[in-house]
Amino acid sequence: MKRVFSGVKPTGHLTLGNYLGAMRQWAAVDQHRADALFCVVDLHALTVDHDPARVRRLSRQAATLLLAAGLDPRLCTLFVQSHVDEHARLSYLLECVATDGEMRRMIQYKEKAARERERGGSVRLSLLTYPVLMAADILAYGTDEVPVGDDQTQHVELTRDLALRFNQRYGQAFVVPRATTPAVGARVMNLQEPMSKMGKSDDSGPGIVYLLDEPDVVRKKVMRAVTDSGRDVEYDREGRPGVANLLEILAACTGGNPEALADVYESYGALKKDTAEAVVEVLRPVQARHKELCADPVFVEGVLRDGAQRARAMARPVVDAAYRAIGL
Ligand code: ADP
Repeated sequence: MKRVFSGVKPTGHLTLGNYLGAMRQWAAVDQHRADALFCVVDLHALTVDHDPARVRRLSRQAATLLLAAGLDPRLCTLFVQSHVDEHARLSYLLECVATDGEMRRMIQYKEKAARERERGGSVRLSLLTYPVLMAADILAYGTDEVPVGDDQTQHVELTRDLALRFNQRYGQAFVVPRATTPAVGARVMNLQEPMSKMGKSDDSGPGIVYLLDEPDVVRKKVMRAVTDSGRDVEYDREGRPGVANLLEILAACTGGNPEALADVYESYGALKKDTAEAVVEVLRPVQARHKELCADPVFVEGVLRDGAQRARAMARPVVDAAYRAIGL
């Protein structure tokens, strides 16, 4: 059976982008077809200015939402990254095969570092080494496939490079993984700035649909989405990114195809209205289940404790072998 690993960062409330780009596939497909691990990657939340109590709260919320989205602890392993020491242990070894040049070339680093500097802040070293920790997350479990949205494929490529380099230099320690992305929904864009992705840690609330947004809030955000001054509905990601994004979201929510859907609509208003309703319907069962789970914190706690135990048992031998291989 294939081994699958993926994660979410507790840096903000989870979004429709996280759901359509990643979580939905984890629940509907990956946990059924593979030996799958899903992780709330809380160490990654420390790479930017953070409030300790908020990170703790968001980690718990993310785990609860992953269960609400359909992850089943009988089918997969769900855990919190910092509960398993092997991630940090392996990360250091991988820092010893990675170069600073390849870290500085990572698009997300360049964007996030620029944003931190614009705000007048300093850039934490961990923001630069973030992709190495992510590589450790993946490689510690002998992962074959990493189901992610488009924005993470460069980091998975780097993970492959590090695994190959380590294996060539020190012997076969790691499985070389590959990224898988969904056909539709791999890149959900911000409704107010359709040239940037809908990211949970951005401050631009009105362009982001959060998984726990009330139906009326979802409707308002979608109805106010930026489009353009054209009239006819056309699927053109470059030329008309706002409209293309709505078509993608609608397609991802209803199982349709964005190009075919473009022929169905004659006005932006009708497209927005149907998209809003489709999103509300997709979120409804997730929100209902989330409410039930919030009433049962002991269950969530137990899932995370068992998950960490199982994850540790899987990661330990892989990381120990890597330590031996590199000369320790
Ligand atoms: P974020 O950018 O929201 O902090 P994470 O790093 O926690 O995202 O990503 C969790 C998963 O959600 C990843 O697989 C990522 O590729 C996916 N993802 C995040 N944002 C989007 C988006 N706007 N569209 C599609 N997938 C996304």
